[in-house]
Amino acid sequence: MADCLFCKIAAREIPGDIVHADERLIAFGDINPQAPTHVLIIPRRHISTLNDLTAGDTDLVGEMVHLASRIAADRGHAAAGYRTVFNCNAAAGQTVFHIHLHLLAGRDMTWPPG
Ligand code: 5GP
Ligand code: ZN
Repeated sequence: MADCLFCKIAAREIPGDIVHADERLIAFGDINPQAPTHVLIIPRRHISTLNDLTAGDTDLVGEMVHLASRIAADRGHAAAGYRTVFNCNAAAGQTVFHIHLHLLAGRDMTWPPG
């Protein structure tokens, strides 16, 4: 999608700290990290919000979660633990309208989130 920041990062039209890239997914460091590890996992295909998922996207979303777990494990966070978050629309604080899974790790988290 022409005006989408994360589509542009996936297409390498604007720089990103890319930590993983494959046919369907990209993962890159968050520009404003909220934990020692803060990685965003996105599909290459533009999907604005979780509300726009279809039944055909279930494998894609599963791949996103699986990639988050692999990055967490590669960075040594598996045993201590980590958090994964999808924000959807304004009430949850979504600011970039291309779905992304936050992977946060490397510090203790509180619950409930704000
Ligand atoms: P949201 O609030 O939509 O769930 O998360 C959007 C995330 O994207 C935020 O954590 C924000 O710091 C991150 N972000 C916004 N602009 C950029 C950017 O240009 N590059 C990167 N790497 N992350 C960004
Ligand atoms: Zn996009």
